[in-house]
Amino acid sequence: MPVVYLVVPCYNEEAVLPETVKRLTIKLYNMIKSGKASKESRMLFVDDGSKDRTWEIIEEFSKENKLVGGVKLSRNRGHQNALLAGLMTAKEHCDCAISLDADLQDDIEVLDQFVDKYIEGCEVVYGVRSSRDKDTAFKRGTAQGYYKFMAALGVDIVYNHADYRLMGKRALDALSEYKEVNLFLRGIVPLIGFRSDYVYYERNERFAGESKYPLSKMLRFAVDGITSFSVKPLKIISNVGIFICLLSIIFFVYALVSFFSGGSVAGWASQMCSIWFLGGLQMLCIGIVGTYVGKIYSEVKGRPRFIIDKTIITPENKKEEK
Ligand code: UDP
Ligand code: MG
Repeated sequence: MPVVYLVVPCYNEEAVLPETVKRLTIKLYNMIKSGKASKESRMLFVDDGSKDRTWEIIEEFSKENKLVGGVKLSRNRGHQNALLAGLMTAKEHCDCAISLDADLQDDIEVLDQFVDKYIEGCEVVYGVRSSRDKDTAFKRGTAQGYYKFMAALGVDIVYNHADYRLMGKRALDALSEYKEVNLFLRGIVPLIGFRSDYVYYERNERFAGESKYPLSKMLRFAVDGITSFSVKPLKIISNVGIFICLLSIIFFVYALVSFFSGGSVAGWASQMCSIWFLGGLQMLCIGIVGTYVGKIYSEVKGRPRFIIDKTIITPENKKEEK
């Protein structure tokens, strides 16, 4: 029976936490009772520097419910870093860890299937959404376009998989070797390898509170994903450069011909067009290069990706307080 840790990053989740703890406790308790998970299994809530009562709630629950564990980060570090902090903490205690969101959008009924696949010998199990009916048309369109775009850029990413996944201890150890600061876990995990499989599930709507991923954060995350895993944009720049050079030769020939045939030389409009177009293009290209330089800058500094303030994990042999 494996020791299963459920790792849940939480940022300002006081609205959903009590219900989430309740539902996960029942689920984990049943898994322990049915012999799917060892009784040392725990939930690990990572408070990502919340400004509301999230940590107090975790602390209160942990006093009366030994299945509830907590990690408090010293400040808000973002979903991916919070997840990593949770996984790295869980790694020291568990055989496998499953990451899921605090709002229970990821269907917890399939948790058994994750563990089944782990017992069969899979080191990584990806939760994959079987449909996106519950999403708005905008989110669905942009998300699926994004997965396809990433695939076209040569990034190995699991289609329609977010961060609902199981990782075994060996995979977690391997993950700890990836030192990058610009974290994009769903790009890193496929790189680790090992035997893997998929579990399909329906994604629900958030049952309380608001999304902590507004459009601006989502866009930043999307750009991060691309620039952390693909150098294709750099290659595209050179190709665009070559293309423009060829184009300008044709234009030059055209200008010469029209000059000698007595036609009027290209005037103000065409000059302005090319100045603006090339200026814009250059700025775009410098911007792309700048993005990569920025990343090198932050990677070279190698700052810690998270700092843990407190940890609560109740060991199994502790007497139950009633
Ligand atoms: N989250 C976090 N830190 C942040 C933002 C979000 O730990 O800075 C957590 C959040 O509490 C939730 C998960 O990441 O458990 C996913 O966020 P959310 O449900 O708001 O995103 P959505 O499902 O809308 O994409
Ligand atoms: Mg959510």
